[in-house]
Amino acid sequence: MARKFIVAGNWKMHTTIDEGIQLATQIQEGQRNANTTVILGVPFTHLFPVKKKLKAASKIHLAAQNCHYKNSGAFTGEVSPATLAALKIPYVILGHSERRLFNHEDDALLALKIQAALENGLKVIFCCGEPLEIRKAGDHVKFVQKQLEASLFAVPATDMKNIIIAYEPIWAIGTGETASPNQAQEIHLAIRNMLKKQYGKRIADNTSILYGGSVKSSNAKEIFGQPDVDGGLVGGAALDSQEFLKIINSQ
Ligand code: PEP
Repeated sequence: MARKFIVAGNWKMHTTIDEGIQLATQIQEGQRNANTTVILGVPFTHLFPVKKKLKAASKIHLAAQNCHYKNSGAFTGEVSPATLAALKIPYVILGHSERRLFNHEDDALLALKIQAALENGLKVIFCCGEPLEIRKAGDHVKFVQKQLEASLFAVPATDMKNIIIAYEPIWAIGTGETASPNQAQEIHLAIRNMLKKQYGKRIADNTSILYGGSVKSSNAKEIFGQPDVDGGLVGGAALDSQEFLKIINSQ
């Protein structure tokens, strides 16, 4: 099994550029488990200045938090995947529930964005996850399956090495409530089985599936200890360097 253990921070719309540089520098200087791939999802404005401050040897990677599905055009305020690729930003987060909610991004649009990102050589962190009422009804597996089928499963098998899945139950994002380790394992295993059915065992075994939703240093170890949880996508706790470093080291 060759899948990577990944801890990705999602800074959302937090920090000024100076604060972001300081945060990234503190993470760079911290003691980090070499087996953890570290990714920082920073605001667009921060990508270039933070990248300049990170030493290649630090092996800290950057992610954009979104991109457009076209490489150029009359799309005021948008950011092209080709621009991110030219800046040598390796990752892009797509399908975060906040973008689905506040920017009305639907499954079909996300399918286009994933394709555009991959065509530009970006690796995609694709977010999926159910709202509370779906979880309460016990329909979370079906809900996530539909999200994957509608947005992700058009990706050819040869490109799946550039896909990371982040399962993020909406009821756990920024709420302080986390899925229990058992709840996380149940759906991560279900997602892996969906991958297996679609792409076969090798790809299913090699795809990292991250958990996101109020991950903190106090709960990371138990969640990350589940066999099908391959790390985390971390929001609030990624804004505190010491806390984030503890999460990085929670494998
Ligand atoms: C997120 O934004 O992806 C997230 C999981 O946020 P938080 O860790 O704050 O719940």
